[in-house]
Amino acid sequence: MERYDVAVIGAGPAGSMAAKKAVEAGAEVVIFEEHPRAGWPVQCAGLLGVRAMEEAELAVGHRAIRPVRGAKVVSPGGVQLTFRAPKTKAWVVDRRIFDRALLAEAARSGADVMMASPVTGLVRGGGRSVLKVGRGSDQREIEAKVVVSAEGVGARIARGAGIGPPRQILSSAQVEVPIEFEDPERVEVFLGSAVAPGFFAWAIPASEGGGRVGLSCRNNACTYLKRLLKSPPIRSRIKGGPLHLAVGGLPLGPPASTVADGIIAVGDAAGQVKPTSGGGIYPGLVSAKIAGDVAAAAALAEDASAARLSEYDRRWRAALGRELRLGMAVHRLRAGMADPELDGLIRHLLDREDLLRILEEVGDVDRPSRAIKEVGLRMGLSELRMMGTLLRVFLRGDL
Ligand SMILES: Cc1cc2nc3c(=O)[nH]c(=O)nc-3n(C[C@H](O)[C@H](O)[C@H](O)COP(=O)(O)OP(=O)(O)OC[C@H]3O[C@@H](n4cnc5c(N)ncnc54)[C@H](O)[C@@H]3O)c2cc1C
Repeated sequence: MERYDVAVIGAGPAGSMAAKKAVEAGAEVVIFEEHPRAGWPVQCAGLLGVRAMEEAELAVGHRAIRPVRGAKVVSPGGVQLTFRAPKTKAWVVDRRIFDRALLAEAARSGADVMMASPVTGLVRGGGRSVLKVGRGSDQREIEAKVVVSAEGVGARIARGAGIGPPRQILSSAQVEVPIEFEDPERVEVFLGSAVAPGFFAWAIPASEGGGRVGLSCRNNACTYLKRLLKSPPIRSRIKGGPLHLAVGGLPLGPPASTVADGIIAVGDAAGQVKPTSGGGIYPGLVSAKIAGDVAAAAALAEDASAARLSEYDRRWRAALGRELRLGMAVHRLRAGMADPELDGLIRHLLDREDLLRILEEVGDVDRPSRAIKEVGLRMGLSELRMMGTLLRVFLRGDL
């Protein structure tokens, strides 16, 4: 039987980064990916904050399609708020190229990569894990001291090993279409119960003449997406049929623990997604670096107990827990607002030039807490009710 120190399940961004860091920490590492190539099928809008690009440790020029400097937010009643920062706030990437580049880095560092190799089972005993890999006559067993589940939102192996599911999974759907944008460096966000109940819809400029139109909501995303594509703000700008449809789940709220005996969960498998924007790449990459480090050290010390691996849980929560907690509070606040309240909020922001300038200056899609704090501090008495709700949800602190 083949043996490794660390076996990573899934060659998404989190899996490739965890594998690279585990190799750099001195471990023998293998990555299993069920699909024949990385980055496919694409289930992502590909919008990455500047920090996420930095965390990826890839050259920006090779991986980004275009910079993003601002946003247009459309309220349920059609009130429009636009802002544009002097600096690049985010990049639009092609996940097929991005994921492949990350996997290539992991392979270059020395990780073994096994494509078209689904992990179908995991048995733990005697301080070792045995993974069943492949299907039918192609099945084989591989031993590992530590398993890193970077399986994405479904995370069947992690759930089977006792790592719980995320708090909530939003239904998501997106198409790539030929579509015109007034400003190709601005993303568009649509709010409201008729558009995307519980979250929001987006239109993101991608390659020349094309864009990604999609949404996340409580359920039935495909039904809402069909409606969005026929709605006036989108329909008249679409210049051809959809080129690609992506349907997936967006996990929000990590489980109580992201480790169990012999296994660590990272990325979507651990619910590490920003509840404000639905972005999972940044928190996934930050956590994957810690996961790779801890998995390698535990394997080399021949101790893969949950107690030893809990160092990972502590470290990633120290790095991201506050941001995700505040993000969850903002998400709950937004999801609980009725359409007229959302209209009122956008109208109010239109009157507050000072708050918009703050968003332009310190707005950070990857770590939004600073902008939330600065805006919160400048809100007047009339806005205190909203801040009170936010604070109450935040103080419950249940991440
Ligand atoms: C519609 C939509 C739009 C999004 N837009 C954005 C965005 O603009 N920006 C952003 O930052 N995030 C976005 N996200 C979230 C982002 O896509 C995820 O957070 C990110 O892909 C998670 O990375 P990961 O490596 O954890 O998992 P994944 O990217 O899901 O990778 C998991 C990998 O594991 C493989 N796998 C699963 N099970 C097995 C198994 N048993 N054996 C072997 N291989 C297995 C899968 O094939 C896959 O390759 C979006 C999500 C959706 C649904």
